[in-house]
Amino acid sequence: MKICVVGAGYVGLVAALSFAKYKNDVICVDKDIKKVKQLNKGIPTIYEEGLEPLLNKCLKKKYILFTNNINKAINLSDVIMIAVGTPTKPDWSVDISQVVDASIEISKGINKYKVIIIKSTVPVGTHEIVENIVLKNGVDIKDFDVVSNPEFLREGRALNDFLHGDRMVIGCKSKKAQKVMDELYRPFKTKIINTNPPTAELIKYASNALLATKISFINEMANLCSKVNANIDTLSYGLGLDSRISPEFLRAGIGYGGSCFPKDTKALVNIGEKYGCEFNIVRSTIKVNENQRLKPVEILLDHYNKIEGKTISLLGLTFKPGTDDIRDAPSLFIIDELLQMGASIRCYDPMVSEEIKSLFPNITYCDSIEDTVRDSYCTIICTELDEFFKMDLESIAKKMKKPMLIDGRNMIDIGEARKSGFSYYYSIGNGSF
Ligand code: NAD
Repeated sequence: MKICVVGAGYVGLVAALSFAKYKNDVICVDKDIKKVKQLNKGIPTIYEEGLEPLLNKCLKKKYILFTNNINKAINLSDVIMIAVGTPTKPDWSVDISQVVDASIEISKGINKYKVIIIKSTVPVGTHEIVENIVLKNGVDIKDFDVVSNPEFLREGRALNDFLHGDRMVIGCKSKKAQKVMDELYRPFKTKIINTNPPTAELIKYASNALLATKISFINEMANLCSKVNANIDTLSYGLGLDSRISPEFLRAGIGYGGSCFPKDTKALVNIGEKYGCEFNIVRSTIKVNENQRLKPVEILLDHYNKIEGKTISLLGLTFKPGTDDIRDAPSLFIIDELLQMGASIRCYDPMVSEEIKSLFPNITYCDSIEDTVRDSYCTIICTELDEFFKMDLESIAKKMKKPMLIDGRNMIDIGEARKSGFSYYYSIGNGSF
């Protein structure tokens, strides 16, 4: 099939490469010319496992090319997938301007029947907005169909999720478009749910809101565990063995981040308000998470009273392992708060990007764990990176000014921390001393 993917971000790039892997002719369009040039050279613009070799293989075989010429790409394609960003506005409504702009561009390039797929996460009713834009731009109703096809991939496992996801949701009103969608996803061995566009649009928000709620719930349980000498890991294990609950998303920590949960939970509350439906549970989920991500600062203040002038080290900056994405990562909120209190920050993340350096130019970015913790009054683990499981705790404790460890991801065994010379250790519901 001839496929055009609009947007070469986390979702668009992964989708485009997955279609190219199955020998479709894929043109991936991005308005960012720097991205386009870099991708055409075989250099990934994001980190995801397996992405670089697949990109180079598909480029070599000419299954994919990147361009900023959307008109030509639309002309040449049968299927157009919109995978642009849909950020949240300060009032929690969804900014669909990138989807609107892409739809206007797409309508200008329609020269024969096309299926326009909305892959971006969009509020219910957006399929109609896109349809109306294309019609308003003079395209005949017979020459296109709009399909809602939200994406459920997880960063850090994006390629695998796209290729072998738990399910694919297709919200489609036309039999003709349905046939095209069936063909598009035939090579993907995944369960397909065919439904109407509003259901498809909503299922994405429902899914993210429920997962975020599980995280906030377990974090509140962890905070109680900390007070009563209970153990959150055992509690989560016990909970997860109940097949009605499942063990997924029951790991306590300093909260969720990333480009999806924070924005999609807010969006669902905002969408609900428009239809007179209060999402009180989701509202609380958001509030719990906002408090949880600052838990390390609360612990620090309990311990030191004053943080001004003290060096604090952070291990891990991205919102989770396996990605270079720092959008809404808990680390950003911790750094911001500590800087406001006058602390000096040293940090380490092997995925550290120019993006975070430009957000916080006045903190020290180190190349190793050992260098990071030097002379600090506390080390905070913010991301569950493999190398933190294996770090030399004894040597770290020795290098610090005060051997204090806040384990925001419950990675370190409490006994090991004690044995290694830490004088203070705090985990999220897993024991402290
Ligand atoms: P992103 O910001 O990484 O990428 C969006 C890309 O679209 C950017 O490269 C931007 O330059 C490009 N773009 C914007 N307008 C354009 C236009 N008119 N023409 C060409 N290119 C244009 O975003 P993302 O993380 O890939 O997310 C995309 C959508 O998928 C969002 O709606 C998001 O909620 C949803 N989603 C994201 C994830 C995730 O894990 N990142 C998972 C599932 C769904």
